[in-house]
Amino acid sequence: MPTRHPLSLLLHPRSPLPHIKQVHAQLVAAGLAGDGLAAGPLLAACSLSPSSPLDYALAVFDRIAYAGAFARNTIIRGFAERGEPRHGIALYARFASLGAAPNNYSFPFVLKSCARAAALPEGEQIHGHALKLGFAADVFVANALVHFYGCCGRTAAACQVFDGIPHRDVVSWNALLAVYVKDGQIDEARLLFDGIPRKDEVSWSTLASGYVRNGLLEEGLMVFDSMRESGAPANEALVVTVLSATAQLGMLEKGQSIHDYIKSSGIPISNILATALIDTYMRCGSVDRAHQVFVSSIHRGVSAWNAMICGLAIHGHGRDALNLFNSFLGQGLQPDKITFVGLLSACSHSGLVEDGRLCFKSMREGYGIEPEMEHYGCMVDLLGRAGMVYEAEALIKEMPGSPDPVIWGMLLNACRIHGNTDLGERIGKMLLNLQPYHDGNYVLLSGIYAREKRWGDVLQVRELMKDRLTTKVPGWSLIEADGRVHRFVMGDREHPRSGEIHMMLNEIQRRLKCAGYVPNTSPVLHDIEDEEKEHVIAEHSERLAMAFGLIVIDPGCPIRIIKNLRVCWDCHEVIKMISEVFDRELIIRDGSRFHHFKLGRCSCLDYW
Ligand code: ZN
Ligand code: ZN
Repeated sequence: MPTRHPLSLLLHPRSPLPHIKQVHAQLVAAGLAGDGLAAGPLLAACSLSPSSPLDYALAVFDRIAYAGAFARNTIIRGFAERGEPRHGIALYARFASLGAAPNNYSFPFVLKSCARAAALPEGEQIHGHALKLGFAADVFVANALVHFYGCCGRTAAACQVFDGIPHRDVVSWNALLAVYVKDGQIDEARLLFDGIPRKDEVSWSTLASGYVRNGLLEEGLMVFDSMRESGAPANEALVVTVLSATAQLGMLEKGQSIHDYIKSSGIPISNILATALIDTYMRCGSVDRAHQVFVSSIHRGVSAWNAMICGLAIHGHGRDALNLFNSFLGQGLQPDKITFVGLLSACSHSGLVEDGRLCFKSMREGYGIEPEMEHYGCMVDLLGRAGMVYEAEALIKEMPGSPDPVIWGMLLNACRIHGNTDLGERIGKMLLNLQPYHDGNYVLLSGIYAREKRWGDVLQVRELMKDRLTTKVPGWSLIEADGRVHRFVMGDREHPRSGEIHMMLNEIQRRLKCAGYVPNTSPVLHDIEDEEKEHVIAEHSERLAMAFGLIVIDPGCPIRIIKNLRVCWDCHEVIKMISEVFDRELIIRDGSRFHHFKLGRCSCLDYW
């Protein structure tokens, strides 16, 4: 009677390859390598251990004289979980053609393969097998079917399987919930979620991430709040998801409260979590708090360092980013391509031309990292900012592959700022052909003409834009107050405190006029009357958010605003003056970077 060899019991699914081979050799010596029972744990270890090649697992499997269902399921599972799902399906077909009967454990593994490979026809046949053999009502098999149909985009089929499960467990509910979320049916997901008898942490995090992934950030945060009230525990995936929502919304206080929750509920700060916290604080405008997380986290890997370097970059702390990179190297860590995106954007946002050039050279020569589109983009921005527009153009032409229109857009912006009309006009016209439906290019090109007072050309570009584009991306600004986000669009009258806000806008205008401010109307549409132009820019969304901030945010605290588009020149000037006249610190994240306004100056040094 064969027994499990005690040596093979020393193995587990993450055993290193030399250890696996040692046990294998001893089983061979004992004459047990072909014995299904004795070699079972060996097969499991070499199928699942990341250090063992799958060919080796297959060789071990082929030596087993009579492979039972356990051995067959193990090898299929190995292929499914280690990125070779098509092979897993082929093995299942081979076993079926040999007449080997599957059991209820076989189906979840092979269906997982079908889900990963999005192999719809194969999965449907396997569903047929399960029905024929009487396994389709088994809850493990049915849950795997729901997941499989969801991954193949067959939501209706997934629902049908779910409806037919006689004894559903929480995994069944979570599987269908994930299917709705993936399909973007967030209202259906909510209804289903509300009906789950015993929700677990996966249910909560699936729903919250569903909202966040579908752009419903505040709803995602509300799910998190309800979860906390219900007393259910949160997992790392959920807190990372809600942190990303707060980062996108720029809700600093909310981010802090999630951080407090993480500390009080004892969720360990892994590298993933540290990275998410640093990124959140940075994107909410608090370099100090990001830095605190960074220095206090024990498990910090390359991604946490990258988050810190990239964060310092968008805040214009270029020197600090470069110094941090030196400590990174001092720790013996290996930079990756994101590290260099951070470093190059740090140089670009701080105007460190020579350092940027050195970084760009060293990434290829010192670290063997080929520059990609983003790295070229940073370099073009860096050179453009320094007014070296022709060198930037030459760099774009050197790039392998065809350059992203975004990169030409950066150069177009540089031409606008530095008044390089000829090059700007050439790039602008090319971009209008390349991206006829992108409004930013029209705005930049008309800005270039406006600078030269070529009103006829300005009008022509504007007309072209009106003909081609039915809608412009609407601008909005967000500000956090009283624990929630307040959203403003241009000329907004919807806010409950709209009356006070407009009184504050008048007050701002009065005090700025006394200080000698004259509005610059050139970036605005030139086919509207002058007085109206002044009126329109005076109600850009960030001004409304700022007026609201001046009313509700305590005088000692900075006013933080998140804006989706690039802040316009006039608003930038006005905010600089407000920071001086009202003696307030204002921090604005716009579509391209952070602006820290203080005492009449901005950290971007007027280039953005
Ligand atoms: Zn503006
Ligand atoms: Zn600025």
